[in-house]
Amino acid sequence: MATVQSLCVYCGSSSRVAESYRQAARQLGELLARQGIELVYGGGRIGLMGICADAALAAGGRVTGIIPRHLHDVEVGHHGLTRLLVTESMHERKRLMFEMSDAFLVLPGGLGTLDEAFEIITWRQLALHDKPIIVVDIEGYWQPFQALVQHVVDEGFARPTVLSLFKVVPSIEAAFTALELAREPAVTPAPGLV
Ligand code: AMP
Repeated sequence: MATVQSLCVYCGSSSRVAESYRQAARQLGELLARQGIELVYGGGRIGLMGICADAALAAGGRVTGIIPRHLHDVEVGHHGLTRLLVTESMHERKRLMFEMSDAFLVLPGGLGTLDEAFEIITWRQLALHDKPIIVVDIEGYWQPFQALVQHVVDEGFARPTVLSLFKVVPSIEAAFTALELAREPAVTPAPGLV
């Protein structure tokens, strides 16, 4: 399987958050640029979104932002990106972010991030795609998310296999390791069988 060339990052648009979350967004942007992986994200210049994009650009990386017109027009769009695509709807934005990315990474975020994370996970549950999804649990931020999914499973509303639709890791470094592993073939065909 090919290595990841473009990574979709879902993260918060709030700027009123702890430095540990901001630092994770910065580190992610820098590492993406250093590894030559394109950042695909929601195109905002605010919150962790802006921090991650700025860090990737400052390190010479390639960044594609995809933003719906109504958000672009209220001037939260980032105008220094490699590429800024403006869509007519949120749905079109989410579809393009999905299509343009080889894998997905979820940083801490708000309700929009939750929506995006659950959508990409449920699309995998429905076998609409088989791209890796990594949830980065900075400072335990996503523990309640994991507990909620476990609760859903415990109460019989989903099979335990849903827990393997996404991988939770504690740090940005671990996220890159998980991405490398996720893109390796699960089974090596025995000689003579292919
Ligand atoms: P948030 O996590 O709420 O700070 O939002 C992060 C990103 O999700 C931003 O790009 C928002 O435009 C987007 N977003 C916010 N609300 C929604 C929603 N209801 N559905 C999809 N995306 C959203």
